[in-house]
Amino acid sequence: MHGLPVEYRFPHILGADGAGVVDGVGSEVRSVRPGDPVMINPGIPDYTCAFCRAGEQSLCVNYRLLGEHLPGTLCEYVVVPEQNVAIIPTLAPPLTWAEAAAFSLVTLTAWRMVVTRARLRAGETALIWGIGGGVSLAAMRIAKRLGARVIVTSSHDGKLQEARRLGADITLNHRTLAVSTEVRALTDKRGADVVIENVGEATWEESLRSLGRGGRLVCCGATTGPHVSVDLRRLFWYQWSILGATMGNEAEYREIVGVLGTGELRPVVDRVFPFEEVRAACERLEQGEQLGKIAIRVSE
Ligand SMILES: [Zn+2]
Repeated sequence: MHGLPVEYRFPHILGADGAGVVDGVGSEVRSVRPGDPVMINPGIPDYTCAFCRAGEQSLCVNYRLLGEHLPGTLCEYVVVPEQNVAIIPTLAPPLTWAEAAAFSLVTLTAWRMVVTRARLRAGETALIWGIGGGVSLAAMRIAKRLGARVIVTSSHDGKLQEARRLGADITLNHRTLAVSTEVRALTDKRGADVVIENVGEATWEESLRSLGRGGRLVCCGATTGPHVSVDLRRLFWYQWSILGATMGNEAEYREIVGVLGTGELRPVVDRVFPFEEVRAACERLEQGEQLGKIAIRVSE
C-alpha cells in the first residue's frame, strides 16, 4: 500500500496479509478457536470511533495496516482482533496456504472500489491499469462477475495473455499503445464508465482522457507519484466522479469471504518463496515482474 507518509520504528516487520492456524484466543472470543485455519484482514481499526460504530471501519480515525503502521505478518506469531480473521472456506480443490494468505487485502480493496464506490453495473465498460498487480486482478474478476466489459493494461505481453485467460475482454499494452485512443475506439467514442487507478502520476491524464460522460474514476494508490491535476470544466461538464478508496469495511470483508466460499475470486498467486528468500521476493515485487501476489512461507 502507498498511503500517507509513515514514520517507521525499526526493526520493522513487513507483511500485510497472512494465513495460519489460531494458536490462542482471548476469553471473550467466540468466532474462532485454537486450531482453526484462518486468514487475516490486515486493516486494523479501533472498533470504537464514530466511523467504526457506523460500520465504516476503513474510515476509522485510528485505522492502521499490518506491515505498514503496525508490525506485520512476516513472522511466526501475530496478534489481531477477533473481527480481523475469517475461517478459510473449504473449497475443492482446497485453498493453499499461499492462496488464503493472498486473498484479503487485494480482494477487499478491489471490492470496495468496483462495487461500493464505482457501483459498476452489467453492460458498462471498466478500464483497469496494470493487470500484474493483485488489486487490478481482483478488480478485473469482480467486474466480470458483475457482467461488465473489462479492458486491462500492462507493459508485458505475457501478463496480457494471462489476463485474457483469466477473463479480460480486451487487453492493451500501455507501453506501445495510447490507451485513451484505444478505449475511445472500443466504446464508439463514449469512453469508459469506470476507471480503476492505482498508478498515479504516470497514468492519471490517460485515465481522465479515457473516462466517458458520467464516468467514475476510483483511486486506491499512487505508485508513480501523488500529485495530479484535473480540468474542472471537464469534471463538471462530463459529470465525472473522482473517488478514493482504502481497504474495506467489516461487512464487505464478510461478503467477499462468502463469495470465496462459493469458489469465486480465488486469488492469483504469482510465486511462493521460503522465508530465507524474502529478499528475492521483495526484489521480484519491486521490479514488477509478478502477476498476482507473492507469498512467503514462514513455517511449514
Ligand atoms: Zn474507529
